[in-house]
Amino acid sequence: MAVKTEMGLEDLFIDTLKDIYYAEKQIVKALPKMAKAAQDPSLKAGFEKHMGETEVHIERLEQVFEIIGKPARGKTCDAILGILEEGKSIMEDYKGTIALDAGLIAAAQAVEHYEMARYGTLRTWAEQLGYADAAKLLETTLLEERTTDQTLTKLAEAGGDNAKAA
Ligand code: FE
Ligand code: FE
Repeated sequence: MAVKTEMGLEDLFIDTLKDIYYAEKQIVKALPKMAKAAQDPSLKAGFEKHMGETEVHIERLEQVFEIIGKPARGKTCDAILGILEEGKSIMEDYKGTIALDAGLIAAAQAVEHYEMARYGTLRTWAEQLGYADAAKLLETTLLEERTTDQTLTKLAEAGGDNAKAA
């Protein structure tokens, strides 16, 4: 009787790593455009800071691929392409308006939430698969994504206050 070869958690882990690796590489290309578009200097600085962090996220993923003994390769992630496309539309449609920064923050938070979902899952799977060092790397990035999201929330709230004062 033929033994059925099944895809396991390890395969799912690798596929999902490829997904976020592809996504991070798209994000690092989008962030300079978002920084350029941002009107509030704090938001601009926030995007620039996260650009540097994102470069490190890519390096950490390469370390994770090394730990599991697989080549670092991306796999098209339709979700991030869609989220970034929406961000691009906001930049075009709200260019020169008072709502532009609010739209940029919303677009960026959608990106961060996607990343948080992925890194949370990957961290847990790495633990379950016995890759403790990989889990630590993924957790470190997860915390940076979460901090970025919280910073964006504060900027959104400050922007709302400014709008009310104006
Ligand atoms: Fe990231
Ligand atoms: Fe991020």
